[in-house]
Amino acid sequence: MSVYQFDVIGTIESPYKQKFAIPRQPGLIPEARGKLVLTPPYANDEIVRGITSFSHLWLVFVFHETADKGWSSLVRPPRLGGNTRKGVFATRATFRPNPIGLSVVKLERVYRQNDTLILELSGIDLLDGTPILDIKPYLPYADALPDAVGGFADSAPETQMTVSFSEQAITFCNTQLNYPELTGLITKVLKQDPRPSYKKQRHTEQRYGMTLYHFNIKWTVNGEHNHVTEITQLP
Ligand code: SAM
Repeated sequence: MSVYQFDVIGTIESPYKQKFAIPRQPGLIPEARGKLVLTPPYANDEIVRGITSFSHLWLVFVFHETADKGWSSLVRPPRLGGNTRKGVFATRATFRPNPIGLSVVKLERVYRQNDTLILELSGIDLLDGTPILDIKPYLPYADALPDAVGGFADSAPETQMTVSFSEQAITFCNTQLNYPELTGLITKVLKQDPRPSYKKQRHTEQRYGMTLYHFNIKWTVNGEHNHVTEITQLP
């Protein structure tokens, strides 16, 4: 067996503080903005020269949160309701022989902050603290394949879920001037129904909570409707 060692070139700062709320692929929630923080020796201006001429980047990263949880040849894609097994290499599952992920994200801007270099991104599907191994520009002529066939995940997941906000939640979002995307982010996260498949079968009202940025969001699910009951700021 060959063993290779890689350096972490930077780390992701993400609104997603737990796996629960994260969409299954990038680009599904454009409001999900994050930062890739490059630290020395990768925080030099030469290393990113020319990068802002690309709208999108591929990020190669480590599924650090689940890296020590092992893997198996067959996995149950949530997309198939969690009951059908597919080979791990026929899926984008996080539990893989090498816990490496690949996401295409939008590059919003690049700037320097003290001795770090920040790549501001949107449409991310990455947990806060995700270690990044490499960045490559997205090349439409080679990477966009309109005739490609997407197997059991041929199109973006469809959802009938609707979302409403309590007065407290609306007021809370409206006063977060540094997070103008907060209402949109919460709405899209809930619309894609982050609950595990087996919980979706339940018919009685369920209560849930999640953390986005440093906000605690509480909501109830009744049938196909989410109602955001309360948002508070974490200490
Ligand atoms: N786009 C990537 C890919 O195809 O390799 C990720 C796909 S994977 C199905 C997406 C899920 O990875 C998210 O829903 C989230 O739960 C999980 N995830 C994101 N960042 C992670 C991390 N650093 N460690 C473990 N799991 C992570």
